Amino acid sequence: MIGSGQLARMSVGPAAELGITLSVLATDPDDSAALVAAHAPVGHHTDLDRVVQFARHCDVITFDHEHVPADVLAAVAELGVPIHPDPSALQFAQDKLAMRIRLTELGIPCPRWASATNAQEVTAFLDRIGGPVVAKTPRGGYDGKGVRVIRAADDIADWLTRASEADPLLLEELVDFVRELAVLVARSPSGQAAAWPVVETVQTDSICTEVLAPAPGLSPDLAAAATEAGLRIAGELGVTGVLAVEMFEIAGPDGRNGFVVNELAMRPHNSGHWTMDGSVTGQFEQHLRAVLDLPLGAPDAREPWTAMANVLGGDLTELYSTYRHIMARDPHLKIHLYGKSVRPGRKIGHINVSGSDLDDLRERARHAADYLRGVIDE
Ligand code: ADP
Repeated sequence: MIGSGQLARMSVGPAAELGITLSVLATDPDDSAALVAAHAPVGHHTDLDRVVQFARHCDVITFDHEHVPADVLAAVAELGVPIHPDPSALQFAQDKLAMRIRLTELGIPCPRWASATNAQEVTAFLDRIGGPVVAKTPRGGYDGKGVRVIRAADDIADWLTRASEADPLLLEELVDFVRELAVLVARSPSGQAAAWPVVETVQTDSICTEVLAPAPGLSPDLAAAATEAGLRIAGELGVTGVLAVEMFEIAGPDGRNGFVVNELAMRPHNSGHWTMDGSVTGQFEQHLRAVLDLPLGAPDAREPWTAMANVLGGDLTELYSTYRHIMARDPHLKIHLYGKSVRPGRKIGHINVSGSDLDDLRERARHAADYLRGVIDE
């Protein structure tokens, strides 16, 4: 696996259980996954020679992020080592503009969008939409970095100086959404696919803070349409492994809600952390099964509801001292910490709890996450 963040770390347990040797190419020996993987050589994912050297020892290459450059992927492909997802699919998770073009071709609902390289094109799109729009740098963004709501071309003057025909910006209408949803599916090279229940994701300041599985009150028709879109995207783009499709739920003119796709991730995803404890097959195990072309596991939920709360970095730097309190207070919680150094706002862990009363589960997951963050002390 190329990348050594929390997604690689959370793949280590399932790999061990399946009897698979998971090697992690680590950026730094102190990275989340490097601390727990038995084999974690150090090397940067942009260092072509280093990645090729790493790949020579692997049967399959996969990723915990989408930032490996195309020339590095091409060099790995030349070795004959299978890459999952294949670079031809991965490009649509690496580049939001390429994704918009492809999904529009497929007729998948998207926000109205345009590309822009200069102020005139930005102004023309603002005029067309008639209100604020969202500007995005197509590559390298996460947690809302590289996303800006703008009212004039001047608001992205800094980005426009760097934009070019080869590297344009993406503009989208500001979607007036009801809420954010995510569809998580897995697909194997043989074409077997499995979909988990559609979830609601809750963001605070552009960072996902909570996931509710399944999305409460979602109409069965919308759940089916969203799932079908997720499976169709996986099939049409040739995705292998886990695919997360982030969506906005929008109010329909006929009173029936619809969706538009926000973005794609081709790897285990924050919206799927609930599956570790809340479904028969967790996303990390499923990703490994899929990229190894093994039969997929059942994605069914184990309980009516699971609430997941992300633990963000806060004032506490030594988290284990808080364990006694949260574990004793609620023995049903499943606590996952990533071994990352604490920085304000950084995702450093998550809490899952499953059961039959969603409001109660949310409160309990939230309480534990806040306690670990240090914003409450009882
Ligand atoms: P990132 O790659 O940083 O996760 P996203 O494209 O997912 O960036 O955008 C981050 C957040 O910004 C989304 O979760 C959503 O809340 C908001 N957002 C993004 N695009 C739009 C849009 N077109 N309309 C309204 N809100 C948006």
